[in-house]
Amino acid sequence: MMHDNVSLFFNRAADHLELNDQLRTILLTPNRVVRVEVVTESDTGGLLHHLGYRVQHNGARGPMKGGLRFHPTLDEKHAASLASLMTWKTAVADIPYGGAKGGINCDPSKLSESELYAITTTFVRLIKEVIGPTIDIPAPDVNTNAKVMGWIMDEYSKYYGFSPGVVTGKPVDLFGSLGREEATGRGVMLALEECLQDKGEALTNVTVAVQGFGNVGSHASRLIAERGGKIVAVSDISGGIANDNGLDIAALNDWVSDKGGVQGFPDARSIEGDEVIAYNADVLIPAALEEAITTENAGQVQARFVVEAANGPLSCEAHDMLTEDGVTVIPDILANAGGVTVSYFEWSQNIQQFRWEELRVVNELDNVMRRAYRGVADLAKGDKIDLRTAAFVLAIKRVARAVVSRRAVRHLLPANLLE
Ligand code: NAD
Repeated sequence: MMHDNVSLFFNRAADHLELNDQLRTILLTPNRVVRVEVVTESDTGGLLHHLGYRVQHNGARGPMKGGLRFHPTLDEKHAASLASLMTWKTAVADIPYGGAKGGINCDPSKLSESELYAITTTFVRLIKEVIGPTIDIPAPDVNTNAKVMGWIMDEYSKYYGFSPGVVTGKPVDLFGSLGREEATGRGVMLALEECLQDKGEALTNVTVAVQGFGNVGSHASRLIAERGGKIVAVSDISGGIANDNGLDIAALNDWVSDKGGVQGFPDARSIEGDEVIAYNADVLIPAALEEAITTENAGQVQARFVVEAANGPLSCEAHDMLTEDGVTVIPDILANAGGVTVSYFEWSQNIQQFRWEELRVVNELDNVMRRAYRGVADLAKGDKIDLRTAAFVLAIKRVARAVVSRRAVRHLLPANLLE
């Protein structure tokens, strides 16, 4: 299960830092866990019953930040694990936030728009006291989008007045940021570009396979292709397609908008969705769901680079199998940090009531991602550890320093955490 993986990765880095048990407990325990009962009316006059969650993991470095997921499998443990991942991700990107996650255990594909609206706004009414622009700022995640974020802003503002900074990932027409929609994909491209440069390679020389062609996968594919990378295989829930001469990503985007999935795209051969993981490409980008690569299929991976665009796409064992085989894995808390980074820019714009031009967003994101990559890669090289352990080490140091600096106990911090 994914929640165990996050703790395993955390503990590996904590071992490297020789972190004491007390600090481990403090850093692993969520600050606040909220569970609410969301009862709404269905379109047919019946009642709908769901559970909503918000887990605020750690707020030492700033207000909590993290997505809202609408998915039938969401539960408290899962939300807690994803919230913890957000704490480490915001620390790696060095943006002034803590980590949170939440959502509702519903299946939006089975709900009408009015039912979804009622569930969302009821959830906001139930958690409104524990979120807010200086407390906890939700964002989109699986099955939530700009439209849902707009509803959240509107509902929250009914109680607290005009509050665009309560949520990010809003529509650009409703105080959203230019460049937010593509931000995670852009960050994935930037992390890969930096990593390739590190190894004396370049985007123009690599072939890339992408699992998942939603928000993150499609924008990452487009931006990598624009910089000369060759996208040779793509899959989504409808199946997979491949073309070793490179897929035309602009045409594929049009196709997916029209048909709803990649399957049947002309100028490509059809493959099984699972084949993308094992595809003969230099780079593999899992951009769909958790645990796409486990001990079952890690041995089939042919790529030399794996970029975790999704959250938790590799199990801990799969990560170890790949790194032992010499594969470079760019971990999720670094690779997909572009989304939360531009969420931070959106929140900053909302607070200042000042809109940035798109070029500014793009340039600032470029700075944050390249700096984050360098910080992690330098630590990995210096300490002879893999990129994931290095990312967790960097994040743990930053969060631990903030935790103790808030109290009169900074002297308790081991010397290696002050470096
Ligand atoms: P999305 O819903 O837009 O896209 C998901 C894609 O995965 C879809 O194309 C879907 O068809 C595909 N998919 C689902 N199951 C699949 C399977 N078994 N095989 C192949 N493809 C499959 O979601 P998204 O926003 O692109 O998020 C993708 C991942 O990235 C998630 O893990 C999410 O948590 C993570 N993430 C997203 C953001 C963001 O800003 N959207 C930020 C950070 C991390």
